[in-house]
Amino acid sequence: MESMKAAVLEEYRRFSWKEVPRPLPAGREVLVKVTFAGICGSDQHIFLGEFHPRTRLPLIPGHEFCGEIVETGRDVKSFKAGDRVVVDPIIACGRCPACERGHYPACPSLRLVGIDLDGGFGEYVKVPETMLHRIDRRIPDRHAALVEQLSIGFHACRRAQVAAGDSIVIWGAGKVGQSILQAVRTKTDHTVIVVDLFEKRLGKAREAYPDIHVVNPAKGDPIGRIMDLTQGRGVDIAFEAVGHFKPTEGRPNPVQGCVQAIRGGGTVCVLGLSNEATPVLFKNLIWKEAQIVSSRVTHGEFEETIRHLVEEDLNPEALISDVVPASRAQAAFEMLEKDPENHLKILLRF
Ligand SMILES: [Zn+2]
Ligand SMILES: [Zn+2]
Repeated sequence: MESMKAAVLEEYRRFSWKEVPRPLPAGREVLVKVTFAGICGSDQHIFLGEFHPRTRLPLIPGHEFCGEIVETGRDVKSFKAGDRVVVDPIIACGRCPACERGHYPACPSLRLVGIDLDGGFGEYVKVPETMLHRIDRRIPDRHAALVEQLSIGFHACRRAQVAAGDSIVIWGAGKVGQSILQAVRTKTDHTVIVVDLFEKRLGKAREAYPDIHVVNPAKGDPIGRIMDLTQGRGVDIAFEAVGHFKPTEGRPNPVQGCVQAIRGGGTVCVLGLSNEATPVLFKNLIWKEAQIVSSRVTHGEFEETIRHLVEEDLNPEALISDVVPASRAQAAFEMLEKDPENHLKILLRF
C-alpha cells in the first residue's frame, strides 16, 4: 500500500506529521492531491478538544482545501485526473425533517469531511465527486483554498437576506467576520460598520475596504458610535461573528450589541460558536419586532464565491495572514491560540 504524509491529530493539542496509508478512491470517489488547506475556527475548537466526543482521534482534520485530482474511481463521470477542484465538505443525512425540506445545514446529524472523517491536512484525500467544484484557471491555488471560508460569508448574507442598499454591522473581525464583510460588499454599498476589540483586525478590514467604519468597544460605547454613524436609525442587519467573548463591564455582549444596533424590524444573524450562554434582553428584540436568524455552514454558495473570485471583486489576500508548510501544523495552531490578534487565516502548504 502506498503512503503519504499527513498532519494527524493524535491527541487533543498534539499533531504529528507522519506517514499514513494513502486512501484508495473507489466507485464515484476521486483522490485529490492537496495544494493548500486553511485552518478554520472549528479546527481550533477541534484541536482543543471542544468538539469531543463528535471528533474521534486520531483524525486528519481539514475541511477547507483545494487541490488537483490525481486518480478517479471507476464510476466517476464528471471529473478527470488533472482537474483543479475545491471540496464542499458537507454530508447531510438526507432523511431527517430538515433534509426532507432541503435545509441541509440544519441537519442534526450533519457530517463534515475533516471533522467527522479524515480531511485535507494530508497530502492526499479521497472524496466523492458529488462534493467537488471545479476551479477556474484564473483563480490561484491559495485563493481556491478560501472558497469554503468565503462561502460562509455568502451563506450568512443569504440567511440574513442582505439586499442592495442595506446598512450592516459585523460584530467580530476574525475569519468569519471578514468573510461576511467580503460577501456583504458584493451586495450593498451602503454603510458597513465592523466592530472588534483588536485594532489590528479592524485595520486589516479597513485596508481591504477603506469605505467601511470601524468601532472598538474598548474605546467607548459601541452602540452610541453605531447610532452616530447611522444618524440615529440603527442598521438593517447585524451579524454576530465573535463566538467566545469576555464579559466587559458596561459593554453589551456581541449578540445583545447586535440587537441594540438594529433598526425596528431589523435582523440579527448569529454565527459565533460559543459554549457559554449569551444573555439577551428579549424586550429589546420584541419592542423592535426584530428577528434573530442563525447561519451555520454553507448551502450551495460555492459557485457564487468562485464566480466572484473570477470577477476579482473580493479581497482574498486580506484573509490570509500566514502560509506555512503543512508539516508545521502544530506550530500554526499554537500561533493562532497564543496570538489571535496577529493571525487570521493560516494556510497550510503541501
Ligand atoms: Zn470552517
Ligand atoms: Zn438530515
